[in-house]
Amino acid sequence: MARPLNAAKPLSTSRIAIIGAGLGGLTLARILHRHGVPATLYEAEMSPDVRAQGGLLDIHGDNGQVALKAAGLHDQFLALALPGEDAKRVTDRHGNILIDRPGKGPASPAARPEIARGDLRRLLIGAVPAGAIRWGCKLTCVTPLGDGQHRLCFSNGARATADLLIGADGAWSRIRPLLSSAMPAYTGTTFIETHLSAGRVRHAACAQLIGGGTLMAVEPGKGILAHRHANGAVQAYIALNQPQAWFDALDFTRQAVALDRIAREFEGWAPALRSLITDGDREPVVRPLHALPIDHHWARKPGVTLVGDAAHLMSPFAGEGANLALFDGARLASALCAHSGDIEAGLAEYEQALFPRSAAVAALTARNHQRFFGEHAPWSVVELFAAH
Ligand SMILES: Cc1cc2nc3c(=O)[nH]c(=O)nc-3n(C[C@H](O)[C@H](O)[C@H](O)COP(=O)(O)OP(=O)(O)OC[C@H]3O[C@@H](n4cnc5c(N)ncnc54)[C@H](O)[C@@H]3O)c2cc1C
Repeated sequence: MARPLNAAKPLSTSRIAIIGAGLGGLTLARILHRHGVPATLYEAEMSPDVRAQGGLLDIHGDNGQVALKAAGLHDQFLALALPGEDAKRVTDRHGNILIDRPGKGPASPAARPEIARGDLRRLLIGAVPAGAIRWGCKLTCVTPLGDGQHRLCFSNGARATADLLIGADGAWSRIRPLLSSAMPAYTGTTFIETHLSAGRVRHAACAQLIGGGTLMAVEPGKGILAHRHANGAVQAYIALNQPQAWFDALDFTRQAVALDRIAREFEGWAPALRSLITDGDREPVVRPLHALPIDHHWARKPGVTLVGDAAHLMSPFAGEGANLALFDGARLASALCAHSGDIEAGLAEYEQALFPRSAAVAALTARNHQRFFGEHAPWSVVELFAAH
């Protein structure tokens, strides 16, 4: 069988295009760079700080931290991590504490240090060479040229040709359709993200209820998940199982009215919990949760692959999406460098491990989703953390 032309091309002289400067794409670029392999990241956003990056991420010892070690950034990560914040507290709607699991402390091998997503992304951005990220380059079309090459075009008029193309462009990847016809499906749950700055009057009661880590107040079909940042600010996800049309009917241009409507779904809940819905001082962010099929995979196609959410979007109920994105980036870089004379062999090795790894976590996430908002909540969540 004829070999694709790009397979014979050395990695170091191939034009490598990574679409998306999220956690997965940045980790990949950083590690390739450490091995002397240049790659260009094309990012839709105009600059690193154009969008709020969301809440805290706990970075796991068996994947996310492994990737940060491979990237040579683990010490810097630990310096930015928040000690003891991996504590978990589950309450009922009245704020009665059902389980209070303390943080593991930085010295524990099981520790999952938490870091603000924005800090982690900034760390990675600062660790790739200046000029490797092309900001404001939203991929709008991609055309296979044969032999594993792809022609790329971007919203700002830029054009490029890639010998190796990596889709690190998240949930709604423009690269995924080159490999698979799967589309993310709505999981039935939407998060409304709210933010309360430090020092607000009713905030003291919230802060006390939340404790030092993550608070999860859940019952069938709904919940409030909240976390206190080191500076005292509070971030919350208000979770509701409702069809997407229900949220579409809310008018978020009239923010207070929309939030009051959501708060009505939490009648009878403790005031300190309800205030997390109504007392925010930033524009709330509506995040419908989507997922790809649990066993999402594709047949090998020359010159292109996916990392992170583009490959295995899942709901956040195992806290693994960001960890997997980091790990995918590291595993792909390692496989490519190990087969630096044969890109296809590197891609095949990477994908062979990627598919079962992602499927196992996606299945766990789907089970946890059911535990969080299924008929046995909150006790099913208590069981989950009691078992850890
Ligand atoms: C509410 C919520 C809470 C979460 N909590 C956790 C948690 O606690 N722990 C955890 O591990 N995971 C969590 N996750 C999951 C985690 O956020 C994702 O899995 C992770 O960010 C995926 O990283 P990524 O690099 O694959 O994609 P992303 O972080 O989505 O990055 C993709 C990048 O691609 C860019 N892009 C998109 N389209 C284009 C285009 N056409 N052209 C150029 N650039 C493009 C985007 O602007 C973005 O910068 C959570 C997710 C949600 C929604």
